[in-house]
Amino acid sequence: MGYEEVRAAGMYANGNAGTLFFENFPIQGSVTTSNVSGEVTDSAAAGTAMATGVKVDNGVISQLIPGDGLDLETILELAKQLGASTGLVTTTTISHATPAAFGAHEPNRSNYAEIISDYLTGSHPNVLFGGAQYIAPNTAISADYTVVENYDELVALDTESENMVWGQFGETHLPYEFDSFGIFPHLSETTLTALKILDNDPDGFFLMVEGGRIDHAGHSNDIQRNIFETIEFSNAVRVVSNWATGRDDTLIIVTADHETGGLQIISNNGLGTFPDVTWSTTGHTGQDVPIYAWGLNADLLDGHVDNTEIYSVLNTTLYGD
Ligand SMILES: [Zn+2]
Repeated sequence: MGYEEVRAAGMYANGNAGTLFFENFPIQGSVTTSNVSGEVTDSAAAGTAMATGVKVDNGVISQLIPGDGLDLETILELAKQLGASTGLVTTTTISHATPAAFGAHEPNRSNYAEIISDYLTGSHPNVLFGGAQYIAPNTAISADYTVVENYDELVALDTESENMVWGQFGETHLPYEFDSFGIFPHLSETTLTALKILDNDPDGFFLMVEGGRIDHAGHSNDIQRNIFETIEFSNAVRVVSNWATGRDDTLIIVTADHETGGLQIISNNGLGTFPDVTWSTTGHTGQDVPIYAWGLNADLLDGHVDNTEIYSVLNTTLYGD
């Protein structure tokens, strides 16, 4: 989700760029995203940089590669060690690279079954909401999770008593917002439920929420689906912000792992009409991505930062320095 993706979604949703909800956050800056070799990153390397503070090769999930290959402790794991609850929410499969970087350790992002196994036996997040691949309901139930598989089951949860919930929504990625969504919950809805479960913990929580299909629509150079995904991601941020209003102990960070598609807007066609755009690639680009921050320590993200510094700020915030 680069700058142009954010601008395009604002034009369609509200008639003008600069109008998405999170563009009201007090701290705004830019982020370099390159991988350990200085090349264009993928979500595994960028996710690992944000989750561990260490740059690695593309495809690597929170292990020191290049290097000794040992596991790199993630911010989610640190939060858990400190007694906090943890959650991962996405619109892709839950074993996809970005959530995996926060809760798994694998030399290859395609080790989907092993990533699921890392969640089950290692990081054990309290909340896992996304597409279900390589995980059957019974496997999660045996690991003490309550399993929900659609919107009705999600909203029927007693979020005051549930402590471990695995939302398995379909067998692959969630549908695009632009298409028929069927029985599945939207990102803003899974995010709200995640907050209701995690905020029961008096020791606080760490939650990573990904609008993971913004990237997919970028790969397809599909501006309609790209915009709809970005708007729903903004809706999810609004849910988080509403939860945090009035608190002084909470940090909200909105950013991207990289830009996809080399999107450029040619003309704004106003509210409810898609802008005219061009794309330069069906892959990722190395351009800086935006960052928006609100709350405790948000000022540390002002200006220009590297993606590894996001980890440092999260770490500082966890330890209350
Ligand atoms: Zn991608």
